[in-house]
Amino acid sequence: MGNKKILVIGSYNVGLACRTERIPVWGETLLAKNFSESNGGKGANQAVAASKLGGDVSFVGCLGNDKFGNDGLNMLKEQNVDISTIFRSDKHTGVGFILLNNEGENCILVDSGANNDLVSEEVINAEKIENSDIVVFQLENNLALIEDLMKHAYYLGKTTILNPAPANKDAKRLLKYANIVNPNETELLLLNNEDLYTKLDDKMCEELARNLLKQGPEYIIITRGAKGAMIVSSNKCVEIKGINVSPIDTTGAGDSFTGGLAVALSEGKTIEDSVNFANYVGAYSVTKRDVIPSLPTRNEVNNFKY
Ligand code: ATP
Repeated sequence: MGNKKILVIGSYNVGLACRTERIPVWGETLLAKNFSESNGGKGANQAVAASKLGGDVSFVGCLGNDKFGNDGLNMLKEQNVDISTIFRSDKHTGVGFILLNNEGENCILVDSGANNDLVSEEVINAEKIENSDIVVFQLENNLALIEDLMKHAYYLGKTTILNPAPANKDAKRLLKYANIVNPNETELLLLNNEDLYTKLDDKMCEELARNLLKQGPEYIIITRGAKGAMIVSSNKCVEIKGINVSPIDTTGAGDSFTGGLAVALSEGKTIEDSVNFANYVGAYSVTKRDVIPSLPTRNEVNNFKY
């Protein structure tokens, strides 16, 4: 039997970045440096991450009928992602304005544009969910739409993965339609209504994950940056130790992890082996700059020296 089909439903954004010594104040114009344009959005990142690793991947999202939208489609096609069910709208393609400073910090403004024009009935009518096995969601589209589509996938018996990012406490209502939820530590705290400055030790991570399990999912996989990941299920808690690397740029680590997880599961690997694989993929991605260019191919993961 071949590998299972992965469907990622989510956002596409173009990132417009430049470097500045400080953020301008209202009414001020500053000269910046090092402008760059990049493809992104959590949905697209995760689809490309899974495809580069050899997954059979489709992406469903909504892009504008503009140059950015055309660029996005070309990029996804080049990365071997099935784009036969991508929608276009008259709104502009989603865009993120990224200001970077010399200390490696950033601040970002996102205008979701066409991402908000994805319509659940149209996605359901396209029958892409029916024809997939693993359906991956994140939180960059509107929550009501994600809820409709997750519910649909869940009741069709698909394996649903919810990457609850960016952090949004209202995403609690999606937990009942998720087989697997993979929050980072901040998202785990928020989904539990905990103070975001709480320092999480192993015991507390497990406890908070167990609270989420009560709401439906079979597995909570907490991603913990350099510390690796933790898998919590009704009868087990397994720690997957972080890989010791020298990080250069951690942006997109969560997306690469989610892509890796989906691919390993699509190959029939156990949850533990899948998280182990995703942990290598995430670690690899932090050793390279940017998001999509830092996503490894299968060979790059296999030959990863750390
Ligand atoms: P981001 O928001 O930057 O995309 P995230 O907060 O969603 O990331 P993290 O928990 O930081 O997600 O990272 C996801 C996974 O990537 C981790 O579980 C781990 O496997 C890997 N990873 C991230 N940072 C490091 C690191 N410094 N060293 C080794 N592995 C890392």
